[in-house]
Amino acid sequence: MKKVSLIAIDGPAGSGKSTVAREVAKRLGFLYIDTGAIYRALTLKAINEGLDFGDKEALIALSQRTDIELEDSSDFLKVYLDKKDVSEKIRMMEVSRKVKIVAALKGVRDNMVKLQRRLGRTSSGAVLEGRDIGTVVFPDAAHKFYLDATFETRAKRRFDELKKKGFGISLEEIKNDVETRDKTDMTRKVAPLKKAKDAIAIDTTNMTVEEVTKKVLWIVKSQR
Ligand code: C5P
Repeated sequence: MKKVSLIAIDGPAGSGKSTVAREVAKRLGFLYIDTGAIYRALTLKAINEGLDFGDKEALIALSQRTDIELEDSSDFLKVYLDKKDVSEKIRMMEVSRKVKIVAALKGVRDNMVKLQRRLGRTSSGAVLEGRDIGTVVFPDAAHKFYLDATFETRAKRRFDELKKKGFGISLEEIKNDVETRDKTDMTRKVAPLKKAKDAIAIDTTNMTVEEVTKKVLWIVKSQR
């Protein structure tokens, strides 16, 4: 079997991992897999179906009957939920607020990790970004990174990103979301957000996207 080249990029919200991961994938001709988008799509479906977010069994059952596909178009990543394009809708604040509940459930993660592994393994090379890629999804990935930045910087990045997309949300709301989401993601029992022991940490606070991309590419090249 051909060996697939995998790059794992983990980190908290706003650390710059999505933009960098996509750029790295583009330059290497690799598949870009935004695993946060997968959890977001499932959360959107739970909202659309009016599910009770306290009902764990219902959320786990939902993850078994949901079809999620990613397609990297030239401008942005397209996310399909049961064949419908939900790329914009998954960025809604309501999804951001509730995704951590869905993502903390082991039964849900088991199904989502299966999907992520299938996507990664069937590619010829992939860049996966999320919270647990280097620790759980692909602990044997050839290249692992952990991106981080100060809280203020991360919140401001998220704010600018959403403003650009036309969402009218205040910086305060974003700060609140980033803070509570990170806390839940880092302290949950299943697959908490943490740096894999063998991941290379990059503080992106004072770096441009281009600088981080170049650094990641340079390290990948030197590890080959
Ligand atoms: O990356 P993004 O901020 O879009 O991720 C949304 C949420 O999805 C995270 O806050 C986290 O709760 C969940 N997630 C996860 N594991 C991943 C990727 C995302 O639990 N690998």
